[in-house]
Amino acid sequence: MSSNDCIFCKIVAKQIPAYVVYENDHCIAFLDINPVSYGHCLVVPKQHVETFADATPEVISELFKCVQQVAIAICKATNAAGFNVVINSGEIAGQVIRHLHVHIVPRYDNDGLTIDKQPSTKLDEAKAKQLVEKLQHMLKS
Ligand SMILES: [Zn+2]
Repeated sequence: MSSNDCIFCKIVAKQIPAYVVYENDHCIAFLDINPVSYGHCLVVPKQHVETFADATPEVISELFKCVQQVAIAICKATNAAGFNVVINSGEIAGQVIRHLHVHIVPRYDNDGLTIDKQPSTKLDEAKAKQLVEKLQHMLKS
């Protein structure tokens, strides 16, 4: 299954070039064309799946095996001290390409990136209790 005007499906099909660093039967990993840090990579399932929520557990499983493998290699290759794994799911979350992809963003001393430094608030206990009840009910198998 693929989408005709999906840029990531075209990369999977080798119809457009990319800096591919790894691929297997399930996934392909390539350098982000607009990196936020040196070694910024994207890992995508070969199957066209629009968002994280749309993917089957099998797709997620293979995807994250690949993410781990590639992230470890990137850190070794770039001497990055760590990395962020980011998924933007849905337009409101900043997902631009409608084909599930995982960002691996290598981190360096004083790189100036702030994705892990968002302002936080104190947890509202009443709302928390309500939400926990709702979620426990929904996630009961
Ligand atoms: Zn696609």
